[in-house]
Amino acid sequence: MKLAMIGTGYVGLVTGTCLAESGNEVTCVDIDLAKIERLRQGDIPIYEPGLAELVVRNAAQGRLHFTADYKDAVSDARLVFIAVGTPQDDKGAADLKYVMAAAAAIAPHLQPDAVVVIKSTVPVGTNVKVAAKLSEVAGRPCDVASNPEFLKEGAAIDDFQRPDRVVIGVRTENAKRLLTQLYKPFLRTSNPLLSMTPESAELTKYVANAMLAAKISFINEMANLCELKGGDINDVRQGIGHDQRIGFQFLFPGVGYGGSCFPKDIRALAQMEREVGMEPRMLDAIDEINTAQKNTLIEKIEKHFGGPPKGKTIAVWGLAFKPRTDDIREAPALVLLDYLLQSGARVQTHDPEAMPNVKKEYALRKDLGNLDQRLVFADHPLDCLEGAHALAINTEWNVFRNPDFDQMKKLLAAPLIFDGRNLYSAETMREYGFTYHSIGRAVVKP
Ligand code: NAD
Repeated sequence: MKLAMIGTGYVGLVTGTCLAESGNEVTCVDIDLAKIERLRQGDIPIYEPGLAELVVRNAAQGRLHFTADYKDAVSDARLVFIAVGTPQDDKGAADLKYVMAAAAAIAPHLQPDAVVVIKSTVPVGTNVKVAAKLSEVAGRPCDVASNPEFLKEGAAIDDFQRPDRVVIGVRTENAKRLLTQLYKPFLRTSNPLLSMTPESAELTKYVANAMLAAKISFINEMANLCELKGGDINDVRQGIGHDQRIGFQFLFPGVGYGGSCFPKDIRALAQMEREVGMEPRMLDAIDEINTAQKNTLIEKIEKHFGGPPKGKTIAVWGLAFKPRTDDIREAPALVLLDYLLQSGARVQTHDPEAMPNVKKEYALRKDLGNLDQRLVFADHPLDCLEGAHALAINTEWNVFRNPDFDQMKKLLAAPLIFDGRNLYSAETMREYGFTYHSIGRAVVKP
C-alpha cells in the first residue's frame, strides 16, 4: 500500500520505517529540511536501537522515501498519517498548531478515497477538528481515523512490530478495512486490533499514559514513606509485585518520569477534565508528586553537604530521560544539572547517547554564565569521576549497572554516590566502602 507519513520524528520515523519493512511504500515528510537531507544520506537524526539498519535497508530497496514536498508524498497515498508533535501549550493543554498546519498542507493533495490517520497524541475532538479543516481546504468531505501510538522510545521497533494491541478509531468501513489490512502482519499472534470511535481512541492513549504515570508517582510516594518510616522500597515492591493483580511493571522508584509524553499528556488530560467542569484531583496529584520527585537527589545532596554544593565537583551519570534513547525532553537529569550549575558546582557528566542533545541545550542557556569549564562531558563513565566529590545517577543505562567499584573509589575525591535509580545493593556499597544514598532505602554508610 502507498502511505505518507507527515512528521518524521521519534514516532513518524519508526512508524514509517516499520510500515515500509512490512512491504508498504512509505514517503516521510518533514518541515525540517536539514532532517530530510540527513535521512536521504542515510544519517539517522535520533538514537533508537535497530532503527538505522531498517531505514537504510528500506530506503535502498525503494520502499522508504524522504521529502519536504507534501504533494510528492500525499497525491498517491491511500493512508496519510499525521505524526507531528503535540507539545504543551501555556495552559497545559495539547497545542494542536502542528497538527492543524499538517492537515491544511495535505488537504489539497489528497486522493478522493484517501484516509487521513491521526497518529499524534491528541485531545478528544481533534479528529472532528482535523476533518473540518481538511473539508474546508479540500472543498469536500474527508475521512479521518485516529490511531494512537503506544511505542516506547528505546524499544520502539519491537513495540511497533509486536504491539500488545492496535487501537483504531474509525467512522467508515473503508478506514477500518485499510487499517486492518495494514496492521495484519503485526498482529499474527493473539494480540487484538481494537476498533472504536475516534473519541474513544483519542482518550485511550491519554488514559494509558496516565495509568502508567500514576504507578510511577504512587511508588515514588511510597518510597518516600519508606525512607521516613524505615522500610525498604525494594522489599515492599517485591511484596506487592508478586500479587498478580498488581504486577511489577512501572513500579520502580526513582527520580520521576520525564520524556516527551507522560508530563505533557497527564497535563493535557487534566486540562480536558477542567474543560468539562471536573476537578482533576488524581491527575494533578500524579503531576505534583512527579515534579517534586525530580528534586529528590537535590534534597539528598543538600542534606549531605549541609547546603548547596558550591565549589564542589559532582559527577553525573545519565542524562536521557530513560535508557536506550537520546531524548532529553523533560529529563529529570536536567533539573539536577540546572540546580548544580546554579549552585556554583562544577559538573562532569557522561551519557552513552544523550550528550550531543544536552550540549545543544546548554549552549543556548545564557542565564548560567560561561559553562566551558563548569559543564564537562566525558566519553567514558569512569572519566567523569576524577576528582569529583560525589557521583549522582539519573538514568539506568546498563553500562552503569556493574561498574568497576574499586576504580571508581580511586577516581572519586570521596566515595559518595547519590543513586536516583537504585542500581546497587546495600551489601555491595558496604563491601566497597561507599556512602550510598538511594530512593526509598536506608542510607549506607561505610
Ligand atoms: P518529534 O518532535 O520527535 O517529531 C515531530 C516531527 O514533526 C518533527 O520532526 C517536526 O519537524 C515535524 N513536523 C512538525 N510540523 C510538521 C508539518 N506541518 N509537516 C511535517 N512535519 C512536521 O515528536 P514525536 O516524539 O515523534 O511525537 C509525535 C507525536 O506522537 C506526539 O503527539 C507525541 O505525543 C506522540 N507520541 C510520542 C511517543 C514517543 O515516545 N516519542 C510515543 C507515542 C506517541
